[in-house]
Amino acid sequence: MPVTNKIKTNVPLAPYTTFKIGGPADFFVEIESKDELEEAFGWAKEKNLPFYFLGGGSNILISDKGLRGLTIKLGNKTIDVRGERLYCGAGVSLAQAAQAATGHKFSGLEWAYGIPRATVGGAIRGNAEAFGTNMSDLTETVEVYNAKKKRFELYSKKDCKFEYRGSIFKKNGHLLIWQGTLKLFAADGVDIDKKVEKVLGFRNAKQPKLPSAGCIFKNVSADHLKESNPELYSRADRAISPRGEVSAGWLIDSAGLKGKTIGGAKISLEHANFIINIGKATAEDIITLISYTKQQVRDKFRIQLSEEIGYLGFE
Ligand SMILES: Cc1cc2nc3c(=O)[nH]c(=O)nc-3n(C[C@H](O)[C@H](O)[C@H](O)COP(=O)(O)OP(=O)(O)OC[C@H]3O[C@@H](n4cnc5c(N)ncnc54)[C@H](O)[C@@H]3O)c2cc1C
Repeated sequence: MPVTNKIKTNVPLAPYTTFKIGGPADFFVEIESKDELEEAFGWAKEKNLPFYFLGGGSNILISDKGLRGLTIKLGNKTIDVRGERLYCGAGVSLAQAAQAATGHKFSGLEWAYGIPRATVGGAIRGNAEAFGTNMSDLTETVEVYNAKKKRFELYSKKDCKFEYRGSIFKKNGHLLIWQGTLKLFAADGVDIDKKVEKVLGFRNAKQPKLPSAGCIFKNVSADHLKESNPELYSRADRAISPRGEVSAGWLIDSAGLKGKTIGGAKISLEHANFIINIGKATAEDIITLISYTKQQVRDKFRIQLSEEIGYLGFE
């Protein structure tokens, strides 16, 4: 079937996000093959329409007005384990990748248990991380569709230019991740089940149950805090990670903002770096609460928070 037959119009996007927020996409298509992808881009180009990518929608805020142009949901869900390597389509859920890894007694993805709906493509783009392991620690190669050059390209780990919560893909909106090869570790001496249990236990206790988009803000460099606010730094020891980052949640909590509510958006009582949708929150409510939080933390601690989540449709 030609992909143009699959393109739908005026599709509400809220159900495609974990925030459950966002207006409609003018045009929406779920892509399953390379041919479909190239055809969809060709269609959008011919009509001079902008395009947006959607993975699991677990780290984004979509505008109440929705998205003009073509929204492409990555449906490439092929997954294969060969030796210590996991070959994942960009649309494979992180949870499924983690299960495939542990099912084959490989270690490396235990941290990804309990993250709802995230895809491997979205996780590579944002260099997702938890409990000290980053996607960049596992990613060996990434197959990418370069929408400017209209061709598929293979990126080595070095080409991906991974950084804290970022990569070359985050800086270049024309690069769509199609597939990722992850290198896992033999579980020599590692009790994988125990690790998974610990991760799930932590997430159950700390992760709010209401709709959210995970952590809103990036953590802050401890050196930066030491310079800007030595007094607060002296109290931050337990909030500093082994990598030298101060938890943004701790800063927000220390500013007394847990529970702060604007419209349907609330700073979670369980984890201050989560904003939850307590029912009928709009993107406007979330943005207003984000701005308020940044202003309060800046005024109280002279620290500028920056967002980990991405915004779509606000340009
Ligand atoms: C309850 C909860 C817990 C979470 N815990 C963690 C955690 O422990 N660690 C962590 O790092 N994150 C966490 N997150 C955030 C989120 O799940 C991750 O950042 C995840 O990697 C986002 O993937 P996604 O597929 O949902 O991306 P989306 O939210 O769909 O997209 C994010 C951005 O990536 C782009 N994008 C998506 N797919 C592609 C692709 N294939 N190619 C190019 N661009 C693409 C989108 O256009 C968008 O700009 C959590 C979220 C929730 C809701």
